[in-house]
Amino acid sequence: MASVADTKLYDILGVSPSASENELKKAYRKLAKEYHPDKNPNAGDKFKEISFAYEVLTNPEKKELYDRYGEQGLREGGGGGAGMEDIFSHIFGGGLFGFMGGQGRSQNGGRRRGEDMVHPLKVSLEDLYNGKTTKLQLSKNVLCSACNGQGGKTGAVQKCNVCRGRGVRIMIRQLAPGMVQQMQTVCTDCNGEGEVISDRDRCKVCEGKKVLKQMKVLEVHVDKGMRHGQKITFSGESDQSPNTDPGDIVLVLQEREHEMFRRDGNDLYVTQTIELVEALCGFQFCLTHLDGRQLLIKYPPGKVIQPGCMRVVRGEGMPQYRNPFEKGDLFIKFDVQFPQNSWISPERLRELEELLPAREETPVISDDAEEVELEDFDMTDGSWGSHRREVYNDSSDEEGGPHGPGVQCAHQ
Ligand SMILES: [Zn+2]
Ligand SMILES: [Zn+2]
Repeated sequence: MASVADTKLYDILGVSPSASENELKKAYRKLAKEYHPDKNPNAGDKFKEISFAYEVLTNPEKKELYDRYGEQGLREGGGGGAGMEDIFSHIFGGGLFGFMGGQGRSQNGGRRRGEDMVHPLKVSLEDLYNGKTTKLQLSKNVLCSACNGQGGKTGAVQKCNVCRGRGVRIMIRQLAPGMVQQMQTVCTDCNGEGEVISDRDRCKVCEGKKVLKQMKVLEVHVDKGMRHGQKITFSGESDQSPNTDPGDIVLVLQEREHEMFRRDGNDLYVTQTIELVEALCGFQFCLTHLDGRQLLIKYPPGKVIQPGCMRVVRGEGMPQYRNPFEKGDLFIKFDVQFPQNSWISPERLRELEELLPAREETPVISDDAEEVELEDFDMTDGSWGSHRREVYNDSSDEEGGPHGPGVQCAHQ
């Protein structure tokens, strides 16, 4: 009969402390059926207790702690995850020990899935408009073909005796009566591998590492209309390792900012600066599109372009992903460049005024109005708010920053 510090968890499952794993399993199945909340809603926390007992007693590390130190061994050793505290108090009565919520090792059968390798892939807006095939070279781990990823001859790999194949050793220190501390250290006999290969049988090609570095070239197809942040996945192309399904290589598209076009969904936006004469008398210009085509854009005399207004060319936006013959729209925003000071003599200006639409009625000016000075102000020099505050704080503040007297105040 095994001597254990506490038998409560065994009692819950109705087995003796010397029960085999098989007996534990049988007992658990029987009780779990009986007390499953779906079948037995009045059983309270009985089902949780059974599950907890089973989880501890079938986990070699936890069982070892529990057998040697009972409840406290589990508490100090991080016997469960979050939310376990109430199970503890159910089973052992209101425990008030500091509970370390370590993560229990999952007893996951089956093959592990390796991690995905995620790489950013920078692309230009031209690439996303036209589509592009590019080659990407990367280095990854592949299973050694000389030993089929075994690290040596068949049977040469032995489970490490020291750590029983776990790669770690658990050390338990008694800090004070009833207080223990569990420490995990990497097993030095197997370097944490959990297994050992004798030098004689070790694979010469991979030196027992089971994997080799290999350069791999991926052909990446960036399809027309793909977007920033879109993922291109190469299933199972990530690092290989024994008993693991390799993860994916995932490329995440990073759209570089374009100097001319801005994209929003399938639409493109571009800002075109025109002169005042063009805004009033019509214009035409060529715009080079993302595929190099020249778009001739005409605007007839007689139709006025207001500063900041937008016009649209339908069907000249980005191609739709997977439906590239359908395209979004191209929006053109017009900045109107006004002439500089003194571009025309006052006499000719009067002639111009004749031609321009007449002024609306002269505004009413009351007799007691105070006339104030309207100065130049460079809007590009710092933000509005901070500048205004400076002016209030220090009225001697000089106008005209590093940009010099550039843009006239166009605020209306
Ligand atoms: Zn070991
Ligand atoms: Zn090998």
